[in-house]
Amino acid sequence: MDPIDHITVDELLARHAVNPSRREPAPSKATGRHVSARIREPVARPCTVCGEDYRSSSVVTFPGGPRWVDLRREHMLATMSPWRGPSTVEGIFSDLRKAAAELAAEMGGLTR
Ligand SMILES: [Zn+2]
Repeated sequence: MDPIDHITVDELLARHAVNPSRREPAPSKATGRHVSARIREPVARPCTVCGEDYRSSSVVTFPGGPRWVDLRREHMLATMSPWRGPSTVEGIFSDLRKAAAELAAEMGGLTR
């Protein structure tokens, strides 16, 4: 498999000349609950870009308002932000120690 070329959803839609007016309108203040409800619906939706079976949904605000964008796995992965957290066990432990120290300081502050 080729390495994934990371792009934003906007770039992906522009690259494939997706017409937002043909997308289903989405709630103006969509939450994660709206998105998961849509994904759980027993409806086979085509990927907005290529028409294959979709795996993820998101809301994109176009000039005409928020619209649903459904993407198949490959397109979803291409638009996900690259992992920016620690990639080594030492890095993960370092982050955990820092978080534990912050929590301890916070708890100490609460009990005084
Ligand atoms: Zn697609």
